Amino acid sequence: MAVDNVPPLTSDSPSGLAAVEREISRACRDARRERASVTLVAVSKTFGGDAIEPVIHAGQRVFGENRVQEAKSKWPDLMARHQGLALHLIGPLQSNKAREAVTLFDAIHSVDRASLCDALAKEIVKQGRHPQLFVQLNTGEEPQKAGIAPADADAFIASCRDVHGLQISGLMCIPPVDDPPAPHFALTAKIATRNGLKLLSMGMSADFETAIQLGATHIRVGSAIFGKR
Ligand SMILES: *Cc1c(COP(=O)(O)O)cnc(C)c1O
Repeated sequence: MAVDNVPPLTSDSPSGLAAVEREISRACRDARRERASVTLVAVSKTFGGDAIEPVIHAGQRVFGENRVQEAKSKWPDLMARHQGLALHLIGPLQSNKAREAVTLFDAIHSVDRASLCDALAKEIVKQGRHPQLFVQLNTGEEPQKAGIAPADADAFIASCRDVHGLQISGLMCIPPVDDPPAPHFALTAKIATRNGLKLLSMGMSADFETAIQLGATHIRVGSAIFGKR
């Protein structure tokens, strides 16, 4: 394997995945980062097993879903058939689904309120499973969007630790669709640094190269891999 530590892609790799891998490698080189420092979360929402399996066969191991119910109906089967898969929840989580989420997911990118922290903390203790947790920021302060406002981030992160006993690993953001993403990524990185958080979930199909430049450790890429939804 070459310097970049790209997962082995076979010659029959789905073309979307192969192209995304090339672009990740290039962005890592430009940013003088190791390929291994960026986790590609392949966002498979709305796609079925027939579209997902070729991507697994091509070497991809980390997948993202935005709904608990949909993930529950698709992934137990796929996980029984393939070793070493990791599943990330990237969409909003209702507190009453915390139990299922802790059971099914290896990471939750959408921690955004005290009641959810409470529900997650109880399930983590009960199940003895510790999914990686990301606090979602609403960097654009969009009223319709989930996430903690930047001004409230430090206090919220502290309360996750001190009030709920949760270990938070990183921050996630979804920039407003009409904004240039770079300032949102930079703000998210700055808030993570001052709170001692190492992981940054930022960047989607349209902007993951910029996100890598600004320190993303997890990029969430759907349509560029699987096609239009
Ligand atoms: C759907 C989704 C993505 C992937 O978006 P693409 O533009 O298809 O890459 C990333 N993050 C979240 C939170 C999503 O819901």
